[in-house]
Amino acid sequence: MAQVLITGGPLWAGPGKFWPQGAVAAVDGIITYAGPADGAPEPPQAEVIHAEGGLIMPGLVNAHCHGAMVLFRGLADDLPLHVWLDEYMFPAEARWVDDEMVELCCRLAAAEMLLSGTTTVGDSYFCLDGAARAYASAGIRAALYQGVIDFPAPGVPDPADNLATARRFVERWKNESPLLSAGVFAHSTYTCSEATLRGVAGLTAELGCLWHTHLAESAGELEDSIKTNGCSPTAYLEKLGLLESLDTAVHCVWLQPGEEELLARREVAVAACPGSNSKLGSGWADAPSLLAAGVKVGLGTDGAASNNNLDLLEEVGLAARLAKVKTKDPAALPAEAALDLALSGGAACLGLEGVVGRLETGYACDAVVMDLTAPRLTPCFDAASHLVYAATGGNVRHVVVNGRQVVNHGALLTMDVDAVMAKVRELAAKVGGPA
Ligand SMILES: [Zn+2]
Repeated sequence: MAQVLITGGPLWAGPGKFWPQGAVAAVDGIITYAGPADGAPEPPQAEVIHAEGGLIMPGLVNAHCHGAMVLFRGLADDLPLHVWLDEYMFPAEARWVDDEMVELCCRLAAAEMLLSGTTTVGDSYFCLDGAARAYASAGIRAALYQGVIDFPAPGVPDPADNLATARRFVERWKNESPLLSAGVFAHSTYTCSEATLRGVAGLTAELGCLWHTHLAESAGELEDSIKTNGCSPTAYLEKLGLLESLDTAVHCVWLQPGEEELLARREVAVAACPGSNSKLGSGWADAPSLLAAGVKVGLGTDGAASNNNLDLLEEVGLAARLAKVKTKDPAALPAEAALDLALSGGAACLGLEGVVGRLETGYACDAVVMDLTAPRLTPCFDAASHLVYAATGGNVRHVVVNGRQVVNHGALLTMDVDAVMAKVRELAAKVGGPA
């Protein structure tokens, strides 16, 4: 039995659960104890991870990402969504994305995420066999959603094959490892026909997996949907009878009156991406209002091409601040609530509730030790507030996924990051961006 004990520092295990001296013990990847250090068992065989001068916290959950897009980080910035997407991203993806590129770039994405405290990623993209291999070898937990779109896409040159490709992907990976799950990503209501959306709903119901879609991201998408479908993107899915089968809607910046309640009734979770949405000038999902309506809300970085990094703590800080900007109320989305978006909220988006997002008995041992000795984190009166308003992913010292240490003193143990970066720079030089 693989045993691990994380001890020696304060423990913030989830909202309202803080111990100045805490400990987390796990056997075979599952937490058997989380609480005050003086009550912790001392398994004789345990590997001990020392948290002196640090803070023990749950690993972060990135609810929506396109990991391979790290290759296009900074390639085209300061553009509106439709120009950025149609004139830069879709052509770059058509030219450069294949299985090998996705594997290489998802190694870099995994390195960036693990080193900044993310232990679970939801990745929606194409050529995801490469992503599955990359994430598995990096040791990050991953929920992978094979892309479906009505035009030729990487790995799916004929859109007529998109559902068959998604089926093959889910069947190939769904039982591969306890750290991987597989589902389907219908790109959006403006790139997927009614027949495609119905096909995705039917396929995911048959396979018992989740589906995600981009929904209500921009004002332009809303206008086009009203012109084309006579109603908003959310109302359109409801009209088709598909909203109740949708698991997670990504973005939800431009919801119309009553649609937050509708999403709550249909039990659709929302993955909000404040960094990407604000940078593209799209707006931002109103997390406090969604939460008040009863919607489960997670946070995603989106791809590094629109963010431009995968540091989820930055999203947490942004979510907390944007909520206050919007309401002019400093109490809107307080620190623990903001942090929980990147924990239990993300878990809800990825079908991992009760598995990740907390350091509690029975949960997977996905944990992070933040270094509290950094100048920017000194002194510390309140752990949660520090994580939201003062820390960055650069303050991560140790990371454990499923009871296995993958980051030690800021060094990734599962890959040669320098070699991966060198290969990505080589490829980027061909793409034409700065290498
Ligand atoms: Zn996205």
